[in-house]
Amino acid sequence: MAVISDGADVKTIGIPRALLYYRYGTLWEMFFRNLGRHVVVSPPTDRAVLQAGEEVSSDESCLASKVFMGAVASLIGRCDAIFIPNYASASPRMGFCTKYQSATDMAANTFREQNPKILSLLIEHLDSQREVEEAFVDLGKRLGASAKEAKRAYHAAAKAQKTANELWAKNQEAALKDIKRLRHSTGDAPITILVAAHPYIAHDPFMAGPVLDALKEAGAIVLFADEADHGHTYKKSFEFTRTMPWVINRELIGSILMLQGQVDGIVLISAFPCGPDSMTDDAIMRCIEGTPILNLLIDAQSGTAGIQTRVESFMDILQFHKKGGYLHE
Ligand code: SF4
Repeated sequence: MAVISDGADVKTIGIPRALLYYRYGTLWEMFFRNLGRHVVVSPPTDRAVLQAGEEVSSDESCLASKVFMGAVASLIGRCDAIFIPNYASASPRMGFCTKYQSATDMAANTFREQNPKILSLLIEHLDSQREVEEAFVDLGKRLGASAKEAKRAYHAAAKAQKTANELWAKNQEAALKDIKRLRHSTGDAPITILVAAHPYIAHDPFMAGPVLDALKEAGAIVLFADEADHGHTYKKSFEFTRTMPWVINRELIGSILMLQGQVDGIVLISAFPCGPDSMTDDAIMRCIEGTPILNLLIDAQSGTAGIQTRVESFMDILQFHKKGGYLHE
């Protein structure tokens, strides 16, 4: 097992640009930098990264976890240790997909021949701020920092992550206000689309990139469901379901409920074969009324031509709807 408990000699830390990096990347990068480490983030996903991940993954793995494996592979030999945290969050209604829980072990086993050093931490209850802080302080101590230094590094990094999250939410609110103002003053505004997908899909240039390009080419303004305030969206999701266990799916659903009246259409993007999305996207398609929804499932073979055609057709429907077509409220 290459998961290390003593990292005092680790100078350069690699972080895979995949999975929860898109949720906690600011915190992770800043935490290590605050402890005087050099941080290398794997390059943005492209065909080569995916292929490297596919080669070492089982066929049943979802596209996002194949991309994660490719991102880990790209860091081997470029850093002293790779940071792969274990966010096992078992809190009811605040759980994470099992893929994040197994990421550390999956990477350690998959790359056992190359034997990269892996730095990890375990968070079992995401809703316990104390537990999260303790996990990072423990990690800092393993990197040779004192408890005080590790605590300081964690607090500054957590603050930076909070600021980044607030900025995304603020920018989204400003964009919505602009759209509203435009509609009010001219009676019209470009088609506005809410993209709802796990952040590592929505903001990955290889996975959602072709969808976003097609939407923008068709003249749409794109908003992201994961960029709304997480506290508000999480709370709102309970109006949809009390039982759903996955926190990110909850936030996406809450965001859809909050914003559906302000957008013209919703695009769901899911990575094949995603367990949580297969259940929640189906429920969204059946239960969210009054706003047209396009449900896209992407896999390693998804061609950009097919995506473009589906996005263009959806945009045509929305234009027709806007002109008073057949989708009457
Ligand atoms: S939530 Fe879905 S896409 Fe994300 S890692 Fe889990 S199975 Fe894969």
